[in-house]
Formats: sequence, structure tokens, C-alpha cells
Amino acid sequence: MNRSAEYKFCPVCGTPFIKRRLISHEPERLVCPSCDFILYLDPKLVACTIARTKNGIVLQQRNKSPKRGYWVLPGGFVDRGETLEQAAIREFYEETGLHTRIDSLIGTYSYPGQANIIIVFNSRITGGILRPCHESMSVAEFAVNRIPWDDLAFDTTKNALQTYVKKF
Ligand SMILES: [Zn+2]
Repeated sequence: MNRSAEYKFCPVCGTPFIKRRLISHEPERLVCPSCDFILYLDPKLVACTIARTKNGIVLQQRNKSPKRGYWVLPGGFVDRGETLEQAAIREFYEETGLHTRIDSLIGTYSYPGQANIIIVFNSRITGGILRPCHESMSVAEFAVNRIPWDDLAFDTTKNALQTYVKKF
């Protein structure tokens, strides 16, 4: 998807954008012909967590497309001004009801043409009560030998869990 097609107007002064290639080897940018504002379509950071209760690894079941009904790591977008670690802890709590403390980094995941860059942490659960949030169909705990490999939503989910299972 060409995300730049979604933005038509300069957010500073409201003038319609024009597309212009500013540097020969870089993509076309959305440029405001009135105030010279340039909209850079930066990546979006996503912080995810792998954490295990005594029953298993906590995964949530997506309630929206794409991949509705498939399983993902609890996580979400990092807010500007928030650290990656704060975002991972906040999102995990919002989506599962469980508090965590980060132990280590599992990996970082980025893909050509994709807006999202995903950071996955290995964390330990420090409290709370497991419950799904409104954004998921359910949350569940999976023993390492019961991970639903064929029903994981994304490459990152699979790759991070494979790394986790090998290392921990
Ligand atoms: Zn402008």
C-alpha cells in the first residue's frame, strides 16, 4: 500500500501537498508548496512481549483483520516520548491485565516495504490477573510444546517465538 496516498494536505498550513523527489536515490516526498513543510513517512515502532505464566506463554487472539482469529504476541505502538520498555510493559498490561518486568531483548524485526518495526522483549510476570482486552477475542497461555505454530498471525510472531524457544 502506498501510505503517502493517505495524506493530501499540509498539517501546518492546510495547503495541498505536492510530490517531489528531493534527493535522487530517495523516495518522492510530500512537500508543501506554501510553507516548505516536508512530510517524512517514518517507520512505526511496535513493542511486543513474550512472557510466561506458570501455565505457559501468553498470546492474544486478534479480533480484527488482517489475520483475525490468529494468535499474536501482546504489544502495540510506541508513543512518542515513551521508551520501548515502557511501551512494552504498558501494552502488555492493557492487553492481558498482567504486570511485567523486562529481562532481555529477544530481537528486532523489520521488513522491506513495511511501515512497522517490531521490538520483542523477554519479560517476567510480576502480578495482575489474566483477562482479555476489548481488542482481542481472547488471551491464553500456551505451554512451549503447545504453541499454535500454524495459527500465528505474523512472521514476527513466529520468528520471535522460535528464538525464545531455542534460547530460554
Ligand atoms: Zn504548509
